[in-house]
Amino acid sequence: MKLVFATNNSNKLKEVQALVSSQIEILSLSDIGCTEDIPETSPTIEENAMQKAKYVKNHYGYDCFADDTGLEVEELNGEPGVYSARYAGEKKDANANMDKLLTALDNKQNRNAQFKTVIALEMGGKLETFTGLCTGSITHTKKGEGGFGYDPIFMPNGYDKTFAEIPLTEKNKIGHRGKAVQKLIEFLNA
Ligand code: IMP
Repeated sequence: MKLVFATNNSNKLKEVQALVSSQIEILSLSDIGCTEDIPETSPTIEENAMQKAKYVKNHYGYDCFADDTGLEVEELNGEPGVYSARYAGEKKDANANMDKLLTALDNKQNRNAQFKTVIALEMGGKLETFTGLCTGSITHTKKGEGGFGYDPIFMPNGYDKTFAEIPLTEKNKIGHRGKAVQKLIEFLNA
């Protein structure tokens, strides 16, 4: 089965490829010649994921799944949420995003946060969504070299290490995207 994963993020492709079996051939956006930026203009994580999956189906004809992820911080009423990538500006600079978040939480007691991934699957004329959550807290400083995005300041519950200090195989087991992908795989295998 051929399915497009609507991303050009090699970190995400690596994460997902490690989780899917060989029965499913995952094509990236560059594999299908899609080089333009797919619009992500929706007001929620769910709708953004659906917008991307529908775009690929409509413009390229492939069945497709797309993910959208946000980091929701309790003290900030769920921000940066759907705006996680551009929290500190259009440059989508991970370091600037983390710095802004650490400043926003300066001297705050409640550092609870969760990553939320929604995967939208457009297949056989139907649209399904799968949600994965990972709860944890925001650290006071950046720690670790691995991962990407907000990983150096997110410590999943039950761990004393940030996502950037946890091996990718472990992050996939407990992480938001891994959980959403597991639901997608179960659906595809059913
Ligand atoms: P996207 O919707 O998956 O592109 O992600 C939105 C924002 O969340 C980007 O700034 C990403 O860097 C960040 N992000 C997504 N997934 C992760 C993750 O697994 N760890 C840390 N940051 C992430």
